[in-house]
Amino acid sequence: LDADPGNLSNAEKEIERVLRPAVFDDFTGQQKVIDNFQVFVQAARLRGEALDHILLHGPPGLGKTTLAHIIANEMGAGIKVTSGPVLDKPGDLAGLLTNLETNDILFIDEIHRLSPVVEEYLYTAMEDYKIDIMLETGPNARSVQISLNPFTLIGATTRSGMLTAPLRARFGINARLEYYDAKLLTTIVLRSAGILKTVITEEAAYEIARRSRGTPRIVNALLRRTRDFAQIKGTGQIDTAIAKYALEALNVDEHGLDEMDNKILSTIVQKFSGGPVGLKTIATAVGEDEGTIEEVYEPFLIQEGYLKRTPRGREATPMTYTHLGIKRDGRTGN
Ligand code: ATP
Repeated sequence: LDADPGNLSNAEKEIERVLRPAVFDDFTGQQKVIDNFQVFVQAARLRGEALDHILLHGPPGLGKTTLAHIIANEMGAGIKVTSGPVLDKPGDLAGLLTNLETNDILFIDEIHRLSPVVEEYLYTAMEDYKIDIMLETGPNARSVQISLNPFTLIGATTRSGMLTAPLRARFGINARLEYYDAKLLTTIVLRSAGILKTVITEEAAYEIARRSRGTPRIVNALLRRTRDFAQIKGTGQIDTAIAKYALEALNVDEHGLDEMDNKILSTIVQKFSGGPVGLKTIATAVGEDEGTIEEVYEPFLIQEGYLKRTPRGREATPMTYTHLGIKRDGRTGN
């Protein structure tokens, strides 16, 4: 039930690929972003030009990688995929860039984690489709300039605030993906169930959807796990009863918060009297990485009103107490 793609097994990645929509029309939600992208793609195609560079930001699992592939597909262009932490030498980037065909897409996931040297190389590549490469070292060192084919960089980030100003300024298109509502996620569950040839009632699809933290990746993961329960504990078909049973077994609560969400909330309330408490302290107390809490867990908890971010740290809200069934003075009960 992890929204973090780094933690997916190969089999899960393969299923994720199968479930990934390939064209704009199959992509559910984010309507405004999609409408705009359709215009930009059509215009670029008419002019026979590369699309402007695009920055996609938003929490993990909302469809950034999917959108990059769809854009390449709709442009009729190729796509090369890499990520910020993987590109640690300018040479790696140069290799990728020089292999791009005219109007191809280079997708860099986690672009906020590029090393400063690599990032600097990107600047001229993005601006003038040129890169300077150093040949040899020592007294014979010299730099040559290589021209690149026009290309589109699509950068994805969960932390747009961590991007440097010069990099951010080089993206002509900037789009933020939002959490999906339960209705949109229900559509995604039904579509995925169709692809996986799983029979599911609409009510069961809604039950899974409303408890998936607004995230397509999680909705698909919960659907697959529920399918396992239906197969072993039920008739193979997913109805509301089996969906509820599976979600409970997977520790997803009535409001769609998972184990870590609840651990973070109860830590703030029980160990730190409701806060304010610093992120680092929370991370140590719950045994989770600080960045993951900030990028994966917090945005949803804040959006849903379970958590407040203040200059002095994180604070519980009245909703947190109600949710945990704890009175503000610390006694259990509603
Ligand atoms: P990360 O940044 O963590 O890699 P992401 O935002 O790139 O995440 P994707 O990998 O694109 O997320 O999407 C995760 C899964 O959710 C994919 O399998 C994809 O099929 C599905 N998905 C995402 N968005 C949609 C959508 N709008 N409609 C249908 N399925 C979607």
